[in-house]
Amino acid sequence: MIDLTLSQIREIEKITPTPVHVYSQDEIIKQTLQVNTAFSWNNGFREYYAVKACPTPGIISIMQQLDCGVDCASECELLLAKAMGFTGSQIMFSSNQTLPGEYSLAKQLGAIINLDDIGMIDFIQAECGIPEKICLRFNPGGEITNGNVIMSSPQDSKFGMTLPQVYEAVERCQSLGVKQFALHAFLVSNTTDDSYYPNLAHTLMKLAIDLNKKYGCRIFMLNLSGGIGIPYVPGQKAADLQKIGSEIKKLYDQLLVPSGLGDIAISCELGRYMTGPAGCLLTKAIHLKDTYKHYIGVNACAADLMRPAIYGAYHHITVVGKEAAKATRVYDVVGSLCENNDKFAIDRLLPEVDVGDYIIIHDTGAHGRSMGYNYNGRLRTAELLLCSDGSFKLVRRAETKQDYFATLDVSGLTF
Ligand SMILES: *Cc1c(COP(=O)(O)O)cnc(C)c1O
Repeated sequence: MIDLTLSQIREIEKITPTPVHVYSQDEIIKQTLQVNTAFSWNNGFREYYAVKACPTPGIISIMQQLDCGVDCASECELLLAKAMGFTGSQIMFSSNQTLPGEYSLAKQLGAIINLDDIGMIDFIQAECGIPEKICLRFNPGGEITNGNVIMSSPQDSKFGMTLPQVYEAVERCQSLGVKQFALHAFLVSNTTDDSYYPNLAHTLMKLAIDLNKKYGCRIFMLNLSGGIGIPYVPGQKAADLQKIGSEIKKLYDQLLVPSGLGDIAISCELGRYMTGPAGCLLTKAIHLKDTYKHYIGVNACAADLMRPAIYGAYHHITVVGKEAAKATRVYDVVGSLCENNDKFAIDRLLPEVDVGDYIIIHDTGAHGRSMGYNYNGRLRTAELLLCSDGSFKLVRRAETKQDYFATLDVSGLTF
């Protein structure tokens, strides 16, 4: 979680008005090093940053300098990766319901292509020929439980292949000349349960051993995908990457090494863990309203951060300059959309807020601005990087009215 002082906000406003998404370079470096260190025992380890979480070169390049690759799922994400100089095995292409042309581009870039469905084997073969190295996305079905709490239902998820399909896929791929395989699975989103990754690694290791025995195929990578969560609520337990990494090393030494598979690379595609805590949405209280409830109207809206609106996600909120003040009033913190779900917080206990107060919505560095949209004619915010030297750098300008109107047929209209 990052904070901003009033004097920093004065600096920010010289560059771009609020609302604005702000990211901390130091925090991104810290998260990246935690992941890289946890898996430093594995020679081929690579974190592929899930581009969709924050598709901004000025942010991704911080992780690129620390040896991360990128995980893409669409043509534009691939083009962004290409423009940034990512090539070959630095790119994962984990798409689903893949559009025509996307596999061709991924193959041209030398990306590791992750097939979401057995039907994609013939699809890619027809489009551009299946590459000699391919990744298969496994969905074991069932439910994942954490104690008694069901966190996710892989059986209800649209992603991946069933176990029999994975076996069939290997046979089919081999018959088409595929020489090397990677295995991938993504079962739970935003979990801080330290057993999730080791359990998933265990599942994929056993599958790798079995496939290797049965088909003699070389497995070059096990990709644990995304899903490690962050403590959005203050006081919530954070994931312990060091512990997760060493648990997986134990399994690796117990299972893979004795099976002669001690050269398999481990990889992941974390998005939220990498940049989530490193970002915040800086906004301002512009109206107060008292009806059946107390409302703080801010100049940001769900178009800038839709997680609370679409799945009731918690984002911590602080009032700049009142961090130590007593929380004495229960508010709904709302944006301006003509949609009643445009609420960043419901019944949130906060210090007394005045019009003009700056409000920080925390942990918005992943799946924040990138989910933005233009409903109600709202323009998307700029993105600023708080650099390690304390300066602010604009890494994406705010959208303009011209951007908003650019896709219209405007013949005969003037704006
Ligand atoms: C979204 C996604 C990720 C990143 O998920 P996080 O929860 O942000 O870690 C990784 N891999 C794939 C295939 C995804 O769709």
